[in-house]
Amino acid sequence: MHYEKEDWNFELVVAGAGVGGISAALAAARLFRRVLLIEAGPEVGGTGVFSSVSLICNFRDSRGRPITSGIHRELFPAAYTHYNEQRVPTYDELALKSTYQQLLEAEPTLTVWTGCTVESADVENGRIQRLHLQGQQAGTVAAEVFLDATADGNLSAMAGMQYEIGREGDGKLQSATATFRVSGFDLLKLENPDIQTWPAIHSLRLELLPYYQALKDEGKTANPRQSITCFPYPDGKALLFNSTSVLGVDPTRPDSVSRGMEEGTRQANELFGAICGHPAFRQARLDYIAPRLGVREGRRITGEYILTAEDCLNTRHFGDMIAACAYSLDIHSPDGGATRLESIPGDGYYHIPYRSLIPVGCSNLLLASRCISGTHEAHSSYRIMASVSAIGEAAGVAASLAVIQRKKDVREVRPAHIRYVLQLRGQFTEGEVERIPLPASPQQEPPVSVEPNFKSNHD
Ligand SMILES: Cc1cc2nc3c(=O)[nH]c(=O)nc-3n(C[C@H](O)[C@H](O)[C@H](O)COP(=O)(O)OP(=O)(O)OC[C@H]3O[C@@H](n4cnc5c(N)ncnc54)[C@H](O)[C@@H]3O)c2cc1C
Repeated sequence: MHYEKEDWNFELVVAGAGVGGISAALAAARLFRRVLLIEAGPEVGGTGVFSSVSLICNFRDSRGRPITSGIHRELFPAAYTHYNEQRVPTYDELALKSTYQQLLEAEPTLTVWTGCTVESADVENGRIQRLHLQGQQAGTVAAEVFLDATADGNLSAMAGMQYEIGREGDGKLQSATATFRVSGFDLLKLENPDIQTWPAIHSLRLELLPYYQALKDEGKTANPRQSITCFPYPDGKALLFNSTSVLGVDPTRPDSVSRGMEEGTRQANELFGAICGHPAFRQARLDYIAPRLGVREGRRITGEYILTAEDCLNTRHFGDMIAACAYSLDIHSPDGGATRLESIPGDGYYHIPYRSLIPVGCSNLLLASRCISGTHEAHSSYRIMASVSAIGEAAGVAASLAVIQRKKDVREVRPAHIRYVLQLRGQFTEGEVERIPLPASPQQEPPVSVEPNFKSNHD
């Protein structure tokens, strides 16, 4: 698409192209909205690609039933079809980037601008009017609804929304990690060479631990982590080490992230050097250290509902549910101590309510990434890619319905309508759905009146 004048105009603008923003943009484009997806980095992918996180964290309830699907299933189909409790479900970040690009390119109503940063937002009467952009597409862009998928709530903060950051009490954030990839090791020198299974991965971590411990005992690393965490790549020929730990990184301050990357790089090199003492790793190669520091936590925008650890651990269900999460509370200690891992009990999942995606005080902004409204503890659970994808997909549908139904405020979009569309796309939902007319093509719009005209298709 080519634009002659400074002001671009779209129906929806999504800021941030990680798993949340991409899911949101795809969901909206599939309702034929004119969507702009803006990414500050040179390519789409965000943390899941450029911080190389590797593991497809749990998205199944206690009986093994998926409680996310939808776009997440398109991103990681093998995790749905080749499920086996013994097998470590991982992905290759380059394959994921390629999947993202293919899915985005398939949508004719979707425009993607990379190398483009949202710098500020003009807000009038509780509505974002336009965004100011820097980079390859410098200028202003207007839209009817905006989605904040920047992970750290950057757009919401620019628009003056309230937020919390860090642990209640002292504001400290979860540790950050520079992950790295290692190949060229000799499987036959490991006690259990079948590294694509959990028993072998646990055994490998224990085998490597003495080498890391010696490094610590000699005072040759500042890494506070007590154990080693690594995962196999899907082909079993490389390992992703998620095992460095940098404290005090605040993603709202670029200098803090740069210093964190330096320390993370140092720790990665130290750890790699240490594990090369193991006979299986004597010829190993450090393929790369992930280009972006992996930052687990940033702003949590204050929304119409603040999801809490109690909600997660009590497997709470909400009438305005639009997504679900089965992953444990997983707090990488802000002080460098042991990671707190607490499973979701009972059925093994909780609901994420639509209200947690709606910032207080703005009528045309939705949260579409890990910056939704929740506490530090709850955030440690829903921040994983499966839930963030489901959140982004729901936000993209909700924003589209606001446009299609000509709602002045995103609060007026009915969760039963959002769930109806999500369900049509194969996403997991619970609760009543109401069928609504939807556009069949970019040219054809449904009638504006969308009061409940059909009962739940579950009757
Ligand atoms: C070290 C580490 C390990 C992890 N391990 C796992 C794991 O094994 N499995 C799992 O499922 N999850 C894991 N996670 C969590 C998960 O990867 C992230 O929480 C999730 O990917 C975040 O997705 P997102 O879309 O919210 O944000 P991101 O993927 O971070 O995307 C946000 C995007 O917004 C862009 N952006 C920011 N500001 C602007 C702006 N002003 N203008 C334009 N663009 C902007 C950024 O450049 C970025 O690309 C891990 C996280 C870390 C850090």
